Amino acid sequence: MKMAFSSKLILITGPSGVGKGTLVKKLLERNKNIWLSISATTRMPREGEEDSKHYYFLERKRFEELINENGFLEWAEFAGNLYGTPGFQVKQKLDLGKKVLLEIELEGARQVRKSCPEAFQIFIAPPNFEELEKRIRERGTETEESIRNRLSRAKKELQAKNEFDAVVINDDLSQALLALEELIGDI
Ligand code: ADP
Ligand code: 5GP
Repeated sequence: MKMAFSSKLILITGPSGVGKGTLVKKLLERNKNIWLSISATTRMPREGEEDSKHYYFLERKRFEELINENGFLEWAEFAGNLYGTPGFQVKQKLDLGKKVLLEIELEGARQVRKSCPEAFQIFIAPPNFEELEKRIRERGTETEESIRNRLSRAKKELQAKNEFDAVVINDDLSQALLALEELIGDI
């Protein structure tokens, strides 16, 4: 069986609004040897999001150039925007012996499963669909169109949870964090 402790590449997936960003932030605060990959995206920054910290915010043309240059470990279209993991940083950090965390959506996770089968893949699930909708609405960052888009995608993503090495249900936040830490550990 694949063990998260022995895997250097950890991947977290789950529907938009489930709490991935919240959990990952807390995980990083408490586990200093984990490096979070910064993705590139064509979506507009949300209030408070900074370029090169939360994402590399790119024009679509530049993003497409990087696809053609094989610059991404994986990439996918999500709710009308492109998202991708720059390959060079992941390789560099793995070579330095760091534990690398990717927080990406389902299509990208499937690509990584093919190209890096040693990666440990965790799916974060909501306690139920109503709670997911409530969280994404109460976050207050999305237009109605984006919410609908994300919820419709979430239905498909939830069906794929059994493809993953582990499923963590984010009901109570601190319990979900402990479950994640138990899976990933620190080194
Ligand atoms: P994601 O990164 O998966 O899109 P976020 O981390 O942005 O999701 O969380 C979506 C919203 O749900 C945020 O407002 C966050 O504060 C809230 N949230 C996260 N985890 C929980 C939880 N366990 N219980 C209640 N609310 C949560
Ligand atoms: P958001 O717009 O809410 O920041 O992200 C939307 C979705 O894109 C989330 O499910 C997030 O995990 C995913 N995502 C973020 N970065 C990447 C990436 O580099 N690749 C892929 N495939 N998905 C990503």
